[in-house]
Amino acid sequence: MQCTVTKCLVKDCDRHAVARGLCFPCYQVARTSVLLGKTTWEELQKLGLSTRVKTRRIKNAFMSAYDEKKSERESEVQDTGM
Ligand SMILES: [Zn+2]
Repeated sequence: MQCTVTKCLVKDCDRHAVARGLCFPCYQVARTSVLLGKTTWEELQKLGLSTRVKTRRIKNAFMSAYDEKKSERESEVQDTGM
């Protein structure tokens, strides 16, 4: 069995992907941009900067609110040092 580490889709980034083909810092920036309405996941997919989510999760209102609040926090605290 081979353990393949998926690399972040961002060209100049060497971290390994954790979500949507992006590493954690890149994913945070992408998600923030989506939440702010600057772009969409669809657009990012077309640009090759995101992949489809493999597991389809049904989001309930609480999780949506949680994600939103969390990303607000995360965008405030940019220098968490990875
Ligand atoms: Zn990255």
